[in-house]
Amino acid sequence: MTAPSRAKLRLANLPTPLFRHAALDEIVGGQVWVKRDDMSGGVETGNKVRKLEYLLADARSQGADVVVTCGGIQSNHCRATAVLARNCGMRSVLLLRTTEPAQATPRGNLFLDALVGAEVRLVTPAEYARRDTLMLDVARELRRVGEKPYVIPEGGSNGLGSLGYVDAMGELSAQLAAGEAGAPARFDLVAFACGSGGTAAGVALGAAHHGVAAAALGIAVCDQAPYFEDKVAELIGEARALSRDLPASAPLSIDYAFRGPAYGIPTDEQLSFLLRVARTTGLVLDPVYTCKALYGLSQLATRSDKVCFIHTGGHPGLLADSARVCSHPDW
Ligand SMILES: *Cc1c(COP(=O)(O)O)cnc(C)c1O
Repeated sequence: MTAPSRAKLRLANLPTPLFRHAALDEIVGGQVWVKRDDMSGGVETGNKVRKLEYLLADARSQGADVVVTCGGIQSNHCRATAVLARNCGMRSVLLLRTTEPAQATPRGNLFLDALVGAEVRLVTPAEYARRDTLMLDVARELRRVGEKPYVIPEGGSNGLGSLGYVDAMGELSAQLAAGEAGAPARFDLVAFACGSGGTAAGVALGAAHHGVAAAALGIAVCDQAPYFEDKVAELIGEARALSRDLPASAPLSIDYAFRGPAYGIPTDEQLSFLLRVARTTGLVLDPVYTCKALYGLSQLATRSDKVCFIHTGGHPGLLADSARVCSHPDW
């Protein structure tokens, strides 16, 4: 059951471990195994590394010398791209969305972008709404001065990038076969945060292809129904065109109930949950993605469920937002 055959670079530190903690079962309410994709690397770590193994291989095979991508001011995807592009001998241009340039003090992910010498261009939310066109404009500008740009969409989410998560489910299937961390033969559910949809597309396809879970659940951290249903269907179509033996149907549901007040802003309960998980188990969540997703799971999971939660990373964003965490009443 191998599927993706496209060229990829070895950039991630794999397999990522399965983490199990009795107290986490209590807090979440099912039997929970955490797939530690927050440990897929060094400063580049997180879910984007798996996508970039394919995307940067493609960039290199096209002879690119500069990678253009985009995200929020604290984008984990942009940071991973900046670091790994440098590893591969390329520079990066990052279009980062911010309402106030004052937010752009180099902290967290933005600090790491600058540290590896990424070229940061700040864009307004209105400009960001046209991000795909904007990136093509930048690519044209770079080509005019003799550079060879390669454009990566927001979150590394296209069909090619999502193949990284098809592979992740193959990796998980080997861990299940080995009974790692007392894992069952098959999970009832694999759950994860959904931000730009590439992880969801890859996990849904990979979980069906490799038979690791009966169902896949993406917990949205932004946007409204049915945005991800449409987006993920499009990505699944692209992925299947690249890798023909992927299954035609890939069961996936998206829950929109735990997005909180806005992208990047958790509710008080969600932050309280982040603190409780950290202080009870030592598992550290991030406030933008994994805290919302695991909190959501705790509201949905039932005792009998055997669940795999994918920890997709995001710690630099937590460090950049430490003031918010420290001002919570539970601190
Ligand atoms: C990008 C990201 C996600 C969401 O993944 P998508 O493939 O964009 O949906 C989840 N968690 C973290 C920490 C991320 O950086």
